[in-house]
Amino acid sequence: MHELSIAMSILDRVLEESRARGDARVEAVYLRIGPLSGVDVEALRFAFEVACEESQLSGCRLEITEVPISLECPSCRSEKQAVSIQQLCCSDCGTPSPEIVHGRELELRAVELVE
Ligand SMILES: [Zn+2]
Repeated sequence: MHELSIAMSILDRVLEESRARGDARVEAVYLRIGPLSGVDVEALRFAFEVACEESQLSGCRLEITEVPISLECPSCRSEKQAVSIQQLCCSDCGTPSPEIVHGRELELRAVELVE
């Protein structure tokens, strides 16, 4: 399962952070995920929970911020929201744009630790 391997690699980085702070307890993990990252958020939540239970992170919170898709619109000459994931066009003027600014994110934004 794709999401499980993503969850495991996030966990590895979280555990590294915790170890670097003298095995601090992990309270919460903050992620940013865009719809173009190819990650299924619900599947990732589930995979993360499963992965956590097998490590010292059992009980930690997973906070996911979903990043909307934005494009650099060639007509408006600025960053605009996309109409939808199927329709990568400016939501103001409808011009299609190949230049995706946001929406591909799969980032570990922060780890909340209790020392
Ligand atoms: Zn536009």
